[in-house]
Amino acid sequence: MELQGQNGLLATFREPWRTRGGVAYAVAGALIGFYTLLYFRDHLGVAGGALDPEAWAAALGLRSRWLLYGALYSLAMIGGAAYYLRRHGNARYNRWRIGVNVGVQVVLAFTLPLVMPYFFTGDPGQFWKYEYYFSYFWPLDWYKLHPGSLQNVPVVFAIYSIVGALVAAPLLAYFYGKRWYCSWVCGCGGLANTFGDPWRHLTSTSTRSWRFEKRAVHTIMFLAIASTLLLFLDHLVGDRNATFHRLIDGGQWWSMKSLYGYVVGAILAGVIGTGLYPLLGPRVWCRNFCPMAALLGLFQKLGRFRITVKPDMCISCGNCTTYCEMGIDVRSYAQSNESFTRAACVGCGMCAHVCPRGVLKLENAPKLQADKKRTGLPVVNL
Ligand code: SF4
Ligand code: SF4
Repeated sequence: MELQGQNGLLATFREPWRTRGGVAYAVAGALIGFYTLLYFRDHLGVAGGALDPEAWAAALGLRSRWLLYGALYSLAMIGGAAYYLRRHGNARYNRWRIGVNVGVQVVLAFTLPLVMPYFFTGDPGQFWKYEYYFSYFWPLDWYKLHPGSLQNVPVVFAIYSIVGALVAAPLLAYFYGKRWYCSWVCGCGGLANTFGDPWRHLTSTSTRSWRFEKRAVHTIMFLAIASTLLLFLDHLVGDRNATFHRLIDGGQWWSMKSLYGYVVGAILAGVIGTGLYPLLGPRVWCRNFCPMAALLGLFQKLGRFRITVKPDMCISCGNCTTYCEMGIDVRSYAQSNESFTRAACVGCGMCAHVCPRGVLKLENAPKLQADKKRTGLPVVNL
């Protein structure tokens, strides 16, 4: 009964739109085109025309194209959630996780930023100060810990930004793994798990991809941390060093702050990160470029979360590896009876869900070594 409920599991490789066919390329092209217009409308000269997302937003009575994006994002997640739950909603973990994902997006990442400004100020020029996104933390929302941002938002939001990023997020990742964020709260993960679910099996499991992932994601994490520190330094020295200020936060497109915004925020997170869902799987951004995923992954490695393997049960069907959206070769651990913690694992639980033998279990129990004693099996921490 449980397995029958996994509606469509075997259809994974039979549907052309899910296997890099023509339709997949068309969807990827449409997504890339949309993100290019959204982020680069000022540079493309489409302002005010039929292709201008600001004009679409105004036509719908929304304050900016970012709120239009939030509305479309929420709709994509709701549609994707229905698709996902139809296939995998037979497990309570999946129902709760996707329900929370969609709830966080609709309430914290769309409705509150939309309505909060109307309650807090009557001055439209100050609206942006109250358009606050509670579900995004530094370094994913890179601007949140910039000195300028911290000074300009209401103090309660500034405290939330600091405590959320530097205390709550790492602590929760230590105790529960990064799944609390990457698979339950984050909008990028939420979109990947709902709208992106049809393409999760396209994620590469090759060693070359793994090497690229480790280098790329830690480089972006380093850049996010270093650039935030440089912005604080720039704030401290201020006008006393005009050249340093121009390089770091001068407002020109080539200043470090602008470049990070364009390359990481617009191209890697949006145009490539989401545009390539139908060709490379739904976690291109999370896996290769997200600084938050990299940082929380380090705490996950030090912490309690792991995937435990029941000894001598695996039949090597490979479902777990196929369905891992982070490209982790779960089967190799299961075959060798090794429980494991991988920094990349977002704790989506799909490997355990699709396993026909119930071999895998996601756990946060405090004593990793207690398991080792109990089973006499090695615990791998990579
Ligand atoms: S190892 Fe399992 S829980 Fe972790 S990301 Fe892969 S499928 Fe999800
Ligand atoms: S752990 Fe389960 S899903 Fe993975 S290969 Fe073994 S039997 Fe198949």
